[in-house]
Amino acid sequence: MSRYFTEKLSSLTPYTPGEQPKDMQYIKLNTNESPFAPSKSVSDAVLSESQKLQLYSDPECVNVRRELARVYGVDINKVIVTNGSDEVLNFAFMAFADQKNPLVFPNITYGFYPVFAQLNGIPYTEIPLKDDFTIDINDYIGINKTVVIANPNAPTGIALTLGDIEKIVASNPNNVVIIDEAYVDFGAQSAVSLVEKYENLLVVQTFSKSRSMAGARLGFAIGCESLIADLNTIRYSTNPYNVNRMTDAAGTAALKDNNYYMENCKTIVKNREWTVNELQKLGFEVLPSKANFVFAKCDKIDGEELYLQLKNRGILIRHFNKDSICQYNRITIGAIEQMQKLIDEITLILEEN
Ligand code: PMP
Repeated sequence: MSRYFTEKLSSLTPYTPGEQPKDMQYIKLNTNESPFAPSKSVSDAVLSESQKLQLYSDPECVNVRRELARVYGVDINKVIVTNGSDEVLNFAFMAFADQKNPLVFPNITYGFYPVFAQLNGIPYTEIPLKDDFTIDINDYIGINKTVVIANPNAPTGIALTLGDIEKIVASNPNNVVIIDEAYVDFGAQSAVSLVEKYENLLVVQTFSKSRSMAGARLGFAIGCESLIADLNTIRYSTNPYNVNRMTDAAGTAALKDNNYYMENCKTIVKNREWTVNELQKLGFEVLPSKANFVFAKCDKIDGEELYLQLKNRGILIRHFNKDSICQYNRITIGAIEQMQKLIDEITLILEEN
């Protein structure tokens, strides 16, 4: 740290992204990316837009927002797009939480929430999950704080029902409830349908997982017009060109090819069920996942040891050091050949152990 770093930020612990080692070619099952390439129209749109990079991007991102409005059946003014959904989460924390409206989220969830809270000087409370890693919705009913819930949750993959989400939203009318649906397309129920009914609901989604665009950085939020206007106040006060030209075009093209992506999601769900079954046969305990990853542990091998041994064999999965989950690993669901290779290698590791 330099001696110039401000005191208020000097204790900030930044988010640790999943590793991207360059020493060899790995089967990457550690950052929940899609194994499928974007559709051809997306690559074509990016190429064509790259010829116009001398021009600024559209600060209103009308093209991709219009397509989002069409696909999700909402008015375009209820949609904002950002540089990945991380950015809109940060904007939402800045806009809707402070000392008077502190944040609450589960103690096991997406690791960026406490970081954005600290970055913005917002107090936060982490509410413990139940022993089975589910969220107890009673903890959030009428809590009178700014609520953030990943649905499905990460890294557990466990989802709440739409009914439970509605109870939380309805019982906190004086605070914004942010539902982070990064993984919703793999089997959970989206809360977008509730946006018309509740002015305090903000639904956040991303193109990084189900739409094969993690490298393009495109996220979005859907909420009532006044919430979106507030987020735009933050956006225009930080970076009005937050979504670049190529990403705007890529997102627009992806939404026109929505069926391709939704079919890919069905394949991932099938591969997930296959993987769960195989892991269970090997003696793993696997949490019930509605996401493109599973969270699993095996009594026959230490969690970190499994992660390290798989890495030695060219397969990356995600291990977290936190005590309560260090026996588990989060494994992204990829193509079936990748999952077969994972199961083959785990079988060998367990035999040799
Ligand atoms: N929310 C959750 C729960 C996530 O796991 C991630 C991915 N790391 C994000 C949001 C952010 O994804 P992105 O910025 O790529 O849209």
